[in-house]
Amino acid sequence: MRTIELGAITVHRATELARWAFAPQDLFPGITPEQVADAGRRFGDRCVEPGTGRLILSIHSYVVRAPGLTLLVDPGNGNDKERPALLAHHRFHTDHLDRLGADPGEIDIVVSTHLHPDHCGWNTRLADGQWSPTFPRARYLFDRTEFETLAKLWESAPADPVAADVARMYEDSVLPVTQSGQAELVEPPHVVYQRGQERITLRQAPGHTAGHLVVEVTSGDRSAVIIGDVVHHPLQFAHPELAQLGDQDPERARSLRARLWSEFADRDVIVLPAHFPEPTAGRIVSGPDGFRYAWLDGGAG
Ligand SMILES: [Zn+2]
Repeated sequence: MRTIELGAITVHRATELARWAFAPQDLFPGITPEQVADAGRRFGDRCVEPGTGRLILSIHSYVVRAPGLTLLVDPGNGNDKERPALLAHHRFHTDHLDRLGADPGEIDIVVSTHLHPDHCGWNTRLADGQWSPTFPRARYLFDRTEFETLAKLWESAPADPVAADVARMYEDSVLPVTQSGQAELVEPPHVVYQRGQERITLRQAPGHTAGHLVVEVTSGDRSAVIIGDVVHHPLQFAHPELAQLGDQDPERARSLRARLWSEFADRDVIVLPAHFPEPTAGRIVSGPDGFRYAWLDGGAG
């Protein structure tokens, strides 16, 4: 399901990369062989690669259209970015921008759920050897904590190769947007849009990073939540304690997952993750063995 309607708002998923596979231990260092087997049983080849047992992820952006506003959430990894230590993000060449479902000039606001390479890379693109804002009219909203943490890291000129890649990301994907005067720091909860019964809100969701946000789109009593990297794989509904390699504060990430699964379960809340393979969207359902994912196409979760 590529486009979801919530009253007068539509949320369209644009896939930058459909298949982004990782060995289970590379994604979740603490995963047990039983949990790997459980993933295979629950999700089959939708989320587990036959033969190799690798876990299948994707990279998605979301275009949210409300009357008078076009919002882009998580622009994706971007092209031509040098990430020599973070090889899964290194030198993409995709036609994501052509398949976004919106013209760059249409975008009013850009939000990244957090500042990792696969969530803010398309903030900029290479033009005449310079990194320039991809979305010429847009205001780019950043969580203040997330932005300031990253700016400090960049100022420290870190020697560690992974930290150096993250600093490079600030330089090529964030700094050009502040220099063009398009950046705006916000402190969630932050209402981006409110008209009638439609509302779009940025909510704090720290754990994966200190300033991680989720984007809640509501119409009356229906809602959809663009959840970023709170969750990487549907196995984390049954196992919220599974920490992803990039979770900066694993305990905080776990307790956030446990709290959100309880909040969203068994309600009309559509979850829109950044990295679940198609059809991506689903609802959280509680049961005697904990939580599970009900994909919107009815697939097993
Ligand atoms: Zn991510």
